[in-house]
Amino acid sequence: MRIGVIALQGDFAEHIAMLSRLDVDAFPVRLPSQLDELDGLVIPGGESTTLNRLMTEYALIEPVTELAYQGLPVWGTCAGMVLLAKTVTNSADGSLGIMNIEVERNAFGRQVDSFESELSIPALGDHPFPGVFIRAPVIRAVAAGVEILCQLPDGAIVAARQGNCLASSFHPELTGDFRFHSYFLSLDGRHAFTKGSH
Ligand code: GLN
Repeated sequence: MRIGVIALQGDFAEHIAMLSRLDVDAFPVRLPSQLDELDGLVIPGGESTTLNRLMTEYALIEPVTELAYQGLPVWGTCAGMVLLAKTVTNSADGSLGIMNIEVERNAFGRQVDSFESELSIPALGDHPFPGVFIRAPVIRAVAAGVEILCQLPDGAIVAARQGNCLASSFHPELTGDFRFHSYFLSLDGRHAFTKGSH
């Protein structure tokens, strides 16, 4: 499998390291030509405003959006999740608008309000998943076709899937738990967007 990780800013190296240990060919993507013949794409955490600007500058927004609509599995973590959202509150910048979710940026406050929490994610099995939240966003609303994968005890949605697209508020790449990455690798064209679902 060939998995690209957008490598313009943020913690792409950690995603690449984790995916490599799962025996896939994971590599950094900086140019549109590197999007050819991928089996999946990760948009990492970082700063969504900067990532959005850089992806625009490197002409990645349109091809990534098109590939997602064609069924390429795309996963956004934290800032990457902000970029996937159709609607973003608490931000002056745009997003790719791929997933039918409304995301609130910096929903837990400032950097000092970062935290770790054990998460219940039924799709990954019974064992709690280590959630690492760094100035994280949350999903405030989802539309039809979006499956909620994880909620905090207060109801805040922190992971969701829409067909081939995946979003998480937290950072599985900063843990020793491979289950979320494995789950992403299990997504394929069978889950593709159908026209009209976005
Ligand atoms: N607060 C950042 C943003 O909204 C996301 C932080 C992160 O990716 N760890 O862009």
